Amino acid sequence: MSDLVYQLIEQEEKRQLEKIGLIPSENHMSPQVTGVLASCLSSKYSEGYPGKRYYEGNQIIDQLENLAIDRAKTLFGVPFANVQAYSGSPANSAIQFALLEPGDALMGMSLGGGGHLTHGHPKVTFSGTHYRSIQYELGENARIDFDRVLALAEQHQPKMIIAGTTSYPFTLDFSRFREVADAVGAWLVADTSHITGLIIGGEHPSPVPYADVIMTTTHKTLRGPRGAIILVTERGLERDPKLGGRIDKAIIPGLQGGPHNATTAGIAVALEEAAQPGFRQYAHQMRRNADTLAATLCAEGLKLVGGGTENHLMVVDLMPYGVGSGTQVAYAMDVAGMYANRNTIPDEPGSPFYPSGLRLGTPMVTTRGMKETEMAQIGRWIAQVVEHVKDEILPEDPKQRTAFVKAFKAQADQDPFLLSMRDDVKALATQFPLFQA
Ligand SMILES: *Cc1c(COP(=O)(O)O)cnc(C)c1O
Repeated sequence: MSDLVYQLIEQEEKRQLEKIGLIPSENHMSPQVTGVLASCLSSKYSEGYPGKRYYEGNQIIDQLENLAIDRAKTLFGVPFANVQAYSGSPANSAIQFALLEPGDALMGMSLGGGGHLTHGHPKVTFSGTHYRSIQYELGENARIDFDRVLALAEQHQPKMIIAGTTSYPFTLDFSRFREVADAVGAWLVADTSHITGLIIGGEHPSPVPYADVIMTTTHKTLRGPRGAIILVTERGLERDPKLGGRIDKAIIPGLQGGPHNATTAGIAVALEEAAQPGFRQYAHQMRRNADTLAATLCAEGLKLVGGGTENHLMVVDLMPYGVGSGTQVAYAMDVAGMYANRNTIPDEPGSPFYPSGLRLGTPMVTTRGMKETEMAQIGRWIAQVVEHVKDEILPEDPKQRTAFVKAFKAQADQDPFLLSMRDDVKALATQFPLFQA
């Protein structure tokens, strides 16, 4: 264990143990999933699909991939699954490649509203330049306004509508998305990457009755390895009986080569874990923890985008502390031992790099076994950090910002208040394993 790589892995494990992770898109895998990832499965090439490989020696890999596919179909209650996409972004590209022609209209939520880059973010992304991208924004009270979504769809006639979010704290009404898709004859793709664990655990309505295609990453609330699953529903197959085959072909030969077999096995293990009764408790606790964290932050005087949460995440609106103040708050929190990410708020006056919000989620802390008591403590700590840095205002002049942030970070690294809080955070965090069985 002398290679620097092993030392760095040890340091990362210590960091994860001693700090409190509040990034809603991250999670801690079970030792079983972790173990499968470090297996000999990574040494095997298996381009193609079970029974139709381009390489010999896939007798066992075929069984493994079929197991992952069967478990995905059973758990979600759908007739088709592809488990080979390397991650969520390539999976979304595959769905678009399968169902759209270049130049077709694609409709998704704007990044600022809480959508993902792969949902048609203009100018810089594949989805936003290869297709004619139409982006819907949030309406009143930071909620999706379906009248506006419908009006936009009727105006631009998208061939695909994506319903999915990365920082939207409220329940997604897939039935309303279906109405919009039906009104213009569009495919409805549900990207449930963030909320899949809640859906399986019965804490969020399922898109299965409404969507044609569903994409989920496997490493967020689902708690598996980094990867993705693409599902086709009965409804999707009714519209096009060849839909599954089109998805498979878009993955390989369309976009990818050999699948990552260790990941496939990790997905199979994670799906089995998610099918256990304990996973329902996990999803339920994740929701209760989010409610407690949100209530504590509000009681401490912080403002939440849309006023609260209905899922595993929330966005703190830091505009009262100046445009772009997510930058200072997220950094100071990390010094104090709690890592989250700065995030845009609806109608962000700053920029994605200097945004005015803070995104917080409970998937990781819940996996570690933390409950309401710990959430209330964490909420009070976060409020104290905000209070501590609130007079450090990000300069309006973009040219002055880099120097300001550099000086702010150097000062925060030595700040006695934050460093003393880090000791308290560590004392709490180390009472909990990374994965509470
Ligand atoms: C995380 C996420 C993705 C992308 O997943 P990667 O694995 O990071 O490529 C796509 N869509 C949504 C809604 C996500 O939350």
